[in-house]
Amino acid sequence: MSDCLFCKFVSGELKTNILFENDDLIIFRDIAPKAKNHFLAVPKKHFKYLAEMTEEDAALLGRIFKTISSLKDLLGLKNGYRLVINQGDDAGQTVPHLHIHVLSGQKMGWDPA
Ligand code: AMP
Ligand code: ZN
Repeated sequence: MSDCLFCKFVSGELKTNILFENDDLIIFRDIAPKAKNHFLAVPKKHFKYLAEMTEEDAALLGRIFKTISSLKDLLGLKNGYRLVINQGDDAGQTVPHLHIHVLSGQKMGWDPA
């Protein structure tokens, strides 16, 4: 999508500090971290909602979860971590390109507010 921030990061039209990249995704730091470590794992393919997934997208997301879980040192996963996918307004989704928040590096509470 031409006016999507994350598509621009994927294409390189806008620069971000990419920590990891493969055929499926890019990973970079969130600009407004909500935990000691806060990364965004962004599929290269643009879609907004899990509900829009094709079978191919489902396989893509499966691979993405596997990739994230393998990046133990880079993402600081060894003592545990949290993955978050915000969907729609109530969840506060602000970027309309599906992405997975990866939070790590500290104990985390459980307060959705
Ligand atoms: P969400 O609210 O789930 O849609 O997540 C969007 C995330 O993108 C937020 O946590 C923002 O802090 C983050 N974000 C927005 N702009 C940038 C940027 N230029 N670089 C890195 N992260 C960003
Ligand atoms: Zn996009």
